[in-house]
Amino acid sequence: MAIPVLVEICVDDLDGVLAAEVGGADRVELCGDLLEGGTTPSLGLIELVLDRVSRIGVQIMVRPRGGDFAYSATELEVMRRDLRAIATLAERSNVAVGVVFGVLTSDRRVDVAAMRLLIDAAGTVPVTFHKAIDASDDVVAAYGVLRGLGVERVLTSGGPGTAAEGAQTLAHLVSISAGGPAVLAGGGVRPANARALVAATGVGEVHLRAQVPAARGDGGLVTDLAIVRSVVEAVGAAHHIDDAAASEVVLALDIGGTSLKGAIVDSSGRTLHTRTEQIVEPGDAALQLVRGLLARLAAEAETANLHVVGVGVVTPGIIDSGVVVYASTLEWSDVPLRAVLSADLSVPVHIGHDVRSAGLAEGLFGASAGLPDSVFVAIGTGVAASIFSGGTSTEGATTSAGELGHIPAIAGGEVCTCGQFGCLEVYMSGAGLARRYLALGGTEPLTAAQISQRLSHDPIAAAVWADGLRALSLGLTSVTLLLDPAAIVLGGGVAQAEDTLITPLRELLADSLAWREPPVVSRSLLGSAGGRVGASVLAFRAAGRGHYVDAWLQAAVLVEPQSHSLQPL
Ligand SMILES: [Zn+2]
Repeated sequence: MAIPVLVEICVDDLDGVLAAEVGGADRVELCGDLLEGGTTPSLGLIELVLDRVSRIGVQIMVRPRGGDFAYSATELEVMRRDLRAIATLAERSNVAVGVVFGVLTSDRRVDVAAMRLLIDAAGTVPVTFHKAIDASDDVVAAYGVLRGLGVERVLTSGGPGTAAEGAQTLAHLVSISAGGPAVLAGGGVRPANARALVAATGVGEVHLRAQVPAARGDGGLVTDLAIVRSVVEAVGAAHHIDDAAASEVVLALDIGGTSLKGAIVDSSGRTLHTRTEQIVEPGDAALQLVRGLLARLAAEAETANLHVVGVGVVTPGIIDSGVVVYASTLEWSDVPLRAVLSADLSVPVHIGHDVRSAGLAEGLFGASAGLPDSVFVAIGTGVAASIFSGGTSTEGATTSAGELGHIPAIAGGEVCTCGQFGCLEVYMSGAGLARRYLALGGTEPLTAAQISQRLSHDPIAAAVWADGLRALSLGLTSVTLLLDPAAIVLGGGVAQAEDTLITPLRELLADSLAWREPPVVSRSLLGSAGGRVGASVLAFRAAGRGHYVDAWLQAAVLVEPQSHSLQPL
């Protein structure tokens, strides 16, 4: 193929847009409700898409309903107002924005008056006339009228059938298209026939849906990355497919207390595929589970023509030079995890501490992004912190910095599992709150979340929670006085409660820091994705590809894959 053609993917949700962008397409046509043939997408979806994309052009459908293209005065007014709103959004967008609409008269000719009204409403935003042209009496005559109106592009299959059936008309339109509008061929275009269509017609742009049935099985459709990649491969400019980086991925594994969460993450930070296993048995069984999960992910990546360049694993416990020195929940001591996994997978492997890695991810892409001084505090079963000071993550002399859970918070307090008394996590942690609730006379075992939900009517819950808040605020007061962070970000399961945790904590911290402003206190933005994101960052860095990470966008790392199957490229 001498000159690559532009590839436009028709989508109706954010995931579809991002799949088109990752897959190397040039543009999306953003619609609402593709099952109805595409209608005007909601303003919320348009805003979200324009916020999240980094490269791909966005053509926005303006069609008030399914059915024919002869609109009432009221429908035209709705379209006019939609176009005005889109034009305003387009002004502050970093990517190319266009609009797509078409109006016919009741005798199936281009409605020139209505088109003039709408083109005027679109302002400087380029206009594509959509497949309404194929419902017109005479496609070639309609094309001439649209040229006169200054329409930039026409989406057409050259008649009522598919683009392949209308190839002759398409070729004719291309031959007269020097003065515009551009011819965008759509209608039955697939990866398998795109090349032949381009060869037969000379079109410079193709348009297609790239959808497969959604895994949720309700008859809905989702955009499929593999189809996008295939069509781009067949005819496209291959924005990053020519680049070796396109097929390079890492395996990221987040080892938790009860489960393993594995993922395949691409060079733009997007998670392509995930796989989860429950840890049923600790010790060697858990180690074999880790090896098995990573081997499966590696095999799946290979089947999809993806090239695994590195592995990042984040785990609780004490880690030193790739060895898990001690991890209590896993019952691991001196497990040479890095050596075992590099031998299995033959790529660089990095073993990171779970909280420090989540803190790294939060500092790069989350609530403390861009702040060189910040502290990430994970409140789960226990409590630990990840410290960024002067732009550097602090590990400490024995790689055990950040053990905030065992800071003495209450002098002469209750005994901790570590043997000391009054540690912070005795009072504020999943385990601590649950234990104290029962110890103070609670009649049923409750989780931290349940305790936080009954503060108004359960005095024991209220007392336990208040003690926890006090211990946490004292610990964070010490942290603030010592490190002067700009922000403290709270993550982990217990940190989900905004009203009962973050808000009172801000007040307590302000009270105990009488002579200085408290740092900003906020909830983690990455949430449970933090471990995965941190592990993928560590993996790309271990593979000597840290520069990929420098270009990642927050929106990309937050993308969750929509299906559990990874299609071959
Ligand atoms: Zn302790």
